[in-house]
Amino acid sequence: MTTLAQITLENEMDLILAYKKSMRTAELLGLTLSTQTAFSTAVSEVCREVIDKAQGGTATLGATANEGRFFFTAIITCEAGEYFNKSSDGIEYARKLVPILEIAATEEKLNITLKLSIPRSTRIDQRQVSAVKMRLEQEGPISAYEEVKLRNSELLRLNQQKELALLTANYLNEQKTEFLSIAAHELNTPLTVLRSYAELALRMDDGQSDRLTQMLTKIHRQSGKVVALVKQLLDISKLETGVIVYDKEATDWKTFQEQVAQDLQMAVPNHQLFMAEPATADVLVDRIRIEQVLNNVVGNAAKYSDKHANIHVSTMVVDGQLVISISDKGIGMSTQTIENIFQKFYRSDDTIRKYSGLGMGLYVASRIVTDHGGTITVASVEGDGSTFNIHLPLLN
Ligand code: ADP
Repeated sequence: MTTLAQITLENEMDLILAYKKSMRTAELLGLTLSTQTAFSTAVSEVCREVIDKAQGGTATLGATANEGRFFFTAIITCEAGEYFNKSSDGIEYARKLVPILEIAATEEKLNITLKLSIPRSTRIDQRQVSAVKMRLEQEGPISAYEEVKLRNSELLRLNQQKELALLTANYLNEQKTEFLSIAAHELNTPLTVLRSYAELALRMDDGQSDRLTQMLTKIHRQSGKVVALVKQLLDISKLETGVIVYDKEATDWKTFQEQVAQDLQMAVPNHQLFMAEPATADVLVDRIRIEQVLNNVVGNAAKYSDKHANIHVSTMVVDGQLVISISDKGIGMSTQTIENIFQKFYRSDDTIRKYSGLGMGLYVASRIVTDHGGTITVASVEGDGSTFNIHLPLLN
């Protein structure tokens, strides 16, 4: 069958649409007005039954050829079911209007076929059927209702496409997380061993050869950087799979800051870290994780500013929160960078070219802070430096 038009049957309005489409198709196929009317009425009667009893289906209008004769055909399809076993007024009425009405059932579908032989006098052939098809396509929707319906089905199609794209993206994301987790675990053990041996070798080094000491120091420092990166990768995979476990303890901030101050300064040996008198506050934190956050933000302050530049750390209590401010006088950031820095793997175009890194630190840091019920924000001026503010709720 050459399909000329198709209507999905959902409600009363579709009956009118099926009727109008049948009329127009029959007209283009050269049928007389009375035949057009009889056939279209039969089609809409069957459609009514399908909507009422089978809760919807589709009506397909087309032309079929059989032994050189052409038939105007309508196939109304719905889900299989015993809808028309007992006498059905609509079907019986339609049967009186068209010469052929057949009901055929498969396991899934029920097809009601209405057929009408197109008189030879119309001289219809396959070429003309194709021309009718084109004409109908060019004419487009027959009514405002059909236009809306077509738009809706297009929107539905786009929506389905989007859903599929989303499912694919989610699947790929899961695959990536799994890969990340496996790779990080596989790298972690040999790297930690490597770093430990470098440390041991440095301790055993008797200082006889400056060159050897230099080489061991380099191996130690560089392996330390890779170990830190792999730890970040492990953190990301833990965050993704939701298995990061916090060991939160009531903490006196003043004591804690004094304890970590020296390590923070050692982490940025080429910069001067000024730590103001810590605020007196009690917080509930996983100390190791919060130290990791401080390390990351202070590390960035050093990385993105000139050697020997100053970095300031200050704390205060504002509105029931401890606010830790870390300021640098470094390269600063554009508004676009500010909007994105806490996103996973985000790095600004400028930094990609000039500084090494993976764009994981701030993502992990912000997740840790949010998991403590806090927030992390940034204020920055390009070329003039940045200030990160970490807000942590006070322990009541
Ligand atoms: P990485 O430093 O490995 O790129 P981060 O997640 O720590 O990853 O930082 C993300 C991005 O935020 C950096 O690439 C950089 O563009 C910007 N950024 C972070 N801290 C600063 C800072 N103190 N000054 C300027 N830019 C910064």
